[in-house]
Amino acid sequence: MRVERYDLFLDVSFRDLRFAGKLLITIESREDISLNSVGLHISNVSSNGRTFRFEQKGDSLTVNSGPFKGKLEIQYSGKIPDTLAGIYKASYDGTYIITTDFEAANARRLLPCVDHPEYKAEFKLTVRIDKDLDAISNTPFESVKMEDGRKVVSFQKTPRMSTYLLYLGIGKFEEIKERLDSIDVIVAGTPGRAHNGEFALKVAKKSLEFYRSYFGTPYVLPKVHLIGIPEFAAGAMENWGAMTFREAALYVDKNSSFATRKNVAQIVSHELAHQWFGNLVTMKWWNDLWLNESFATFMGHKVVDAIFPEWNVWEDLLIDVTSPAMNMDSLRSTHPIEANVKSPDDIQEIFDAITYGKGASILRMIEAYTGSDEFRKGVQSYLERYAFSNAEGADLWNSLDESSGRQVARIMTEWIGKPGHPVVTAIIDRGKIVLRQERFFLSGEHDQAIWPIPIVMKANGQPKRLLLDKEEETIEIGNVNSLQLNSDRTGFYRVHYKGLDELVWAAKLSTSDRWGIAFDAIAFLLAKRMTFEDYLVLVKKYSNEPNYLPAREVSDQLAFLYSIVGSRIIDVSRDFHKSQLAHLEGKVDDTASMMRGIISARLAMIDDDYAARLGARFDKYETVEPDMREAVAEGYARSYGDFETIVKKYRQNISDEEKVRLLVSMTTFKEPQLLSKLFELVEGGEVKKQDQTVLISAITRNPYAKDIAWSWIKSGMSRLRQVYEGTGDLSRLLQLCIPILGIGRVEEVERYFNENRMPEAQNGIKAGLEKLKIYQRLVDSLPIAT
Ligand SMILES: [Zn+2]
Repeated sequence: MRVERYDLFLDVSFRDLRFAGKLLITIESREDISLNSVGLHISNVSSNGRTFRFEQKGDSLTVNSGPFKGKLEIQYSGKIPDTLAGIYKASYDGTYIITTDFEAANARRLLPCVDHPEYKAEFKLTVRIDKDLDAISNTPFESVKMEDGRKVVSFQKTPRMSTYLLYLGIGKFEEIKERLDSIDVIVAGTPGRAHNGEFALKVAKKSLEFYRSYFGTPYVLPKVHLIGIPEFAAGAMENWGAMTFREAALYVDKNSSFATRKNVAQIVSHELAHQWFGNLVTMKWWNDLWLNESFATFMGHKVVDAIFPEWNVWEDLLIDVTSPAMNMDSLRSTHPIEANVKSPDDIQEIFDAITYGKGASILRMIEAYTGSDEFRKGVQSYLERYAFSNAEGADLWNSLDESSGRQVARIMTEWIGKPGHPVVTAIIDRGKIVLRQERFFLSGEHDQAIWPIPIVMKANGQPKRLLLDKEEETIEIGNVNSLQLNSDRTGFYRVHYKGLDELVWAAKLSTSDRWGIAFDAIAFLLAKRMTFEDYLVLVKKYSNEPNYLPAREVSDQLAFLYSIVGSRIIDVSRDFHKSQLAHLEGKVDDTASMMRGIISARLAMIDDDYAARLGARFDKYETVEPDMREAVAEGYARSYGDFETIVKKYRQNISDEEKVRLLVSMTTFKEPQLLSKLFELVEGGEVKKQDQTVLISAITRNPYAKDIAWSWIKSGMSRLRQVYEGTGDLSRLLQLCIPILGIGRVEEVERYFNENRMPEAQNGIKAGLEKLKIYQRLVDSLPIAT
């Protein structure tokens, strides 16, 4: 089967939330034509006046055409639901826009099509809408005409592209615009908001310039839109020429925190990388989704580092990208980067830390191995070879092999195809350094497996490189005074120094190295490779840590431990956070200011006096510096228990960023009756669907909320399943909250998920239960709190 082109005419009734479609598909098939279609009412299928019988079953539409070559005409209609996938209604300020989000398998909710990334085709779209509305799609208008008092907008034909990249938005939009040579770079949003897109617009222009030169291929469309969508399941989506964003991932104003600015820059440059990596060259099937996502994540960091070198974003990569990937990859239930996926539910579930983060970390490791010029040359020839077409992982490795003259394909095949990652154990045996690898499991299980690990290390201060591709390697360097492995943490493996603490701390450790030691420690604690006492000794080493990355890591760990072991970690955590606050005093740079916000919020959770002092600033909330606002609101919620004042402020604000801060602060109440009020707010429709996942993940940090949150999630499960249908969000959410909320009721939780099967979240549930048992084991091993 081969599809050439879709000519789609849509008549959209904005008020009734319905559409009627007339579709012409230019297609060739050797047998009956088989298309995908979900929720569409097909009324007629014909070609050249000849009507065909057809059958709709599940998500497929089979046309009894026999062998066919020509234009197939389909007349159909559909409804526009209040969901987050396919074509849907996105509400704001008492009104709405109509928008689409098709990745991975949701284009079939707008038009019958071969909804498979390899079946690229041209799209020629025309819509009839009310005259006071605007429409946005992948390409600029070809014509806009009035017809019987309604507006008919015809868009230019798209290049050959995959179905999941098609976009249509209808509603009232405002725009700001700049030009880059002949390309229009536009931010569009609902009225009153688009002007906050200035920062994103600047980043977009700079990213486009960077990519054109890095990839050696121009951007092929005449315009690029960045569209702020009021309700959005993902952070953003890379539709070709019409990228969509959650408002908090696109807009920056004077009340935005440094974390928000960094996030916006990162997401904008990530989506723009997809315009080449994903849109111009696309994976053949979703098993190679990681090619899209890990590359865009890696390139996003490269660009932001070029635009804002003072931000040190390669450090952020470790904590935001590598860390969640390695944590998930430490489970028995992880999957290889190259995933085995068949059904739309399977596909939706793999938009996870492995696909984005492990892939991006491995690309960084490979770039360090090939050298950055050779890496870039390989990427350029890959894009040139497969433009407007599809490719697989192997095609990229072969290009990198050619450009670098190194065995990239051999190394990558192992890292991409195998689940898990290694831990390298280092010991000194009779004066020699012995390195031994095995697969790392958070459960503490052992399993022999071998990866080709490009090792970068320092022994006695001298850098040393080797490819460890067997179980064990011995290195002789005479008397060892200092030792450090996985320098700057470019390698995707853990290091277990056995009895070598003194040698390690005697080495000259970079910030990333110190991060790595702390990062591995919590995993070793959970895996029973390290005792709780030794872990606490290590944490104390970091109380005077002057750099963001390691200090942030330890703070994250202590907050995590508080959520599972509660009061048993409070003293250590209080000391650490107080000492960090003292270090930050007087520092005025962006990173210090962001860190002060994080540390203050963490301290407020465990120190009532501090929470009360911090919360006292809430009556002048609007004058509080943006990086501190969440902490102040949490301090107020925690110590004053005043739901009404916070919710009033929540209702008054229209900025997503501000709303989320206040929402998160309300998850920190100690009193169950106040948490119930928060849940009523959700059920009353006052919390955006997209923000409910944020709320649930935030509430896991509050030990006082565990019982009530678990009951509420259970009682609202069918609602949650409906809200997140087709998005994969429920899977990610359950993976995150099961291991925390399930502490103290492992059997009950397991029984619940056995009795209530949710095929769309099965992998998330499995991973969540696996983590729960490991966390519970740690909790049970500690002395009872006094
Ligand atoms: Zn992406």
